[in-house]
Amino acid sequence: NPLAKQAAAQVMNQLLEHGYRAHMVGGAVRDRLLQREVSDIDVTTSAKPAEICGLFKRTHQMNTEHQTVLVRIGEMHIEVTTERGLSLAEDLASRDFTINSMAQTLEGEIIDPYNGQEDLTQKIIRSFSPEDRMDEDPLRMLRAIRFCSELSFLIDRTLLEVIKQKAPSIQHVAGERIVTEWDKLLSGSNIQQAFHYLNETELYSYLPGLHMSIDEIERLKSIPKLQDLDSVNRWVLYFLWIKKPSHSAAQGLPLSNETKTQIKSRLTLFEYREQHPLTDWVLFQSGLSVVRDVEQLRRFFQMTTMNDQLLQEKWESLPIHSSKELKISGRDLMENRKIPSGPWIKEELEWLLRLVISRSITHSKETLLDAIERRRNDEK
Ligand code: ATP
Ligand code: MG
Repeated sequence: NPLAKQAAAQVMNQLLEHGYRAHMVGGAVRDRLLQREVSDIDVTTSAKPAEICGLFKRTHQMNTEHQTVLVRIGEMHIEVTTERGLSLAEDLASRDFTINSMAQTLEGEIIDPYNGQEDLTQKIIRSFSPEDRMDEDPLRMLRAIRFCSELSFLIDRTLLEVIKQKAPSIQHVAGERIVTEWDKLLSGSNIQQAFHYLNETELYSYLPGLHMSIDEIERLKSIPKLQDLDSVNRWVLYFLWIKKPSHSAAQGLPLSNETKTQIKSRLTLFEYREQHPLTDWVLFQSGLSVVRDVEQLRRFFQMTTMNDQLLQEKWESLPIHSSKELKISGRDLMENRKIPSGPWIKEELEWLLRLVISRSITHSKETLLDAIERRRNDEK
């Protein structure tokens, strides 16, 4: 991304001009060397957060364990962090893996004290002094496996032994941090190898928030690549693969409520569709995006031949697309029937909606009122 690169150069320039050190570090250096797309650019500097804030117009101090300031340049933002340990060498020493412990100057020179470039060529995830590294932050054990999934690398034997030995210590890591890494792990192209490692090290059994069993990890070793799905659908397929029922799947996960709702609605519809056809009513109630995702997952399992085009046509041909479009409201029903509001309103509205969606009635206020009055009389 040339814009991000330009923004990073601008940030580094400004810091250097004011006499501070500034280096691009971590994932951005690694991904550039691998010629992968760079997702976000981290800059490390000798400037303190307050000094960083003083140098740029639009900044935001982040509440992380590190002293990080988000600097916005146009549409881009660059994470600028004060060097941990107050020197570049100490900062690089505090990073997790050799491939993440490289820095790059504004001129493009690579600083690589732990031979990260060699490990990039050999496709190895390795830590310098792995026992200390994993003790400092047990999340790194999961990060090792997530990078293996994303980059199709193998984990160095020594590091793998350390992970086996220290696996239980990941229990105390915050669930939110686990889930962020898990999300990236699921999006990787080497996902099967990642589950193999999780099994081999038994790390899977200690992951807070995920509660995985031995049966599940066995199943996951044959999960297909999920990289073409978005995050919500990756979670959905993950749960389908381990056969977690929809009501319990996303429950205890430290994800946002919105994400959990999206996962749950897809799992619920998927389960429903195993027994029932896709009627106009189901389409209307679930909404196009949920149905589209579920049908995509069903195609994945070769359970349907319904394609997006067909679905789109089916959707467009619905008489209405939201209950707000119904030509009658709860208030209309109340005025018409002259009794206080209650659950009966919702029930009558739904009955009318069903008539409209199934095209059993012309959709006008009079016909709807007529229909509901006839129904009330029939019930008497
Ligand atoms: P991604 O491409 O997914 O952003 P990344 O390597 O940039 O990968 P981040 O989580 O963004 O990963 O972290 C940026 C850098 O910060 C890493 O490359 C690594 O050097 C360092 N880092 C992040 N988390 C840790 C950690 N838990 N322990 C040690 N170093 C870390
Ligand atoms: Mg990053």
